[in-house]
Amino acid sequence: MSFDLLGLQADLLRAVKTQGYGRPTPIQAQAIPEILAGHDLLAGAQTGTGKTAAFVLPVLQLLAEKGHPQRHPRALILTPTRELAAQVGERVHAYGIHLPLRSTIIFGGVGMQPQVNQLHRGVDILVATPGRLLDHVGQRTLDLSRIEILVLDEADRMLDMGFIHDVRRIIKLLPERRQNLLFSATYSDEIRRLSDTLLKRPKLIEV
Ligand code: AMP
Repeated sequence: MSFDLLGLQADLLRAVKTQGYGRPTPIQAQAIPEILAGHDLLAGAQTGTGKTAAFVLPVLQLLAEKGHPQRHPRALILTPTRELAAQVGERVHAYGIHLPLRSTIIFGGVGMQPQVNQLHRGVDILVATPGRLLDHVGQRTLDLSRIEILVLDEADRMLDMGFIHDVRRIIKLLPERRQNLLFSATYSDEIRRLSDTLLKRPKLIEV
């Protein structure tokens, strides 16, 4: 399997090549075409499998395909920790380097104002931890009403850390019509309940 066969556009293939990746990992080979086709996804994948590129690459492409950048958040990637948010945000930047899309990272434990400034300048992609994201919504520095794609990364850790209520509150703020991608290393009853309410006819991937 080659990256060229997954349906990714040249700007993304160039970024992948710059990273030195030879071929897609199994989660990438399976997830990328499904996400590009617009399906919801329930993916079981551990860290180290290449799961980040498996959602970041197609999300970037879907946003780039649909017209000019609109500078309001259209994709929301939720992560359980600030470390993961920073890592994923760095990947969004690296893979999107040739695309005219802007992203920012929102997490707690640091000042609000720099994040407010970033949001004010306009972003297409938000990578965020749940608590701080809701702080911004509460202060009306963030509007989630035009999110088209929601990604829950490491959803099992998100629930283990007690974020289920925050996650459900965030989901209620999003438009009904959107694409949902749920990545989790493990499946508990709680993950199943969340995926049942969140995902519409999801494609299932296990690596
Ligand atoms: P992740 O599972 O997303 O945390 O990725 C684990 C590591 O694999 C990261 O350092 C990525 O840069 C790297 N990686 C992702 N996709 C590939 C690939 N197709 N080939 C080689 N390395 C990759």
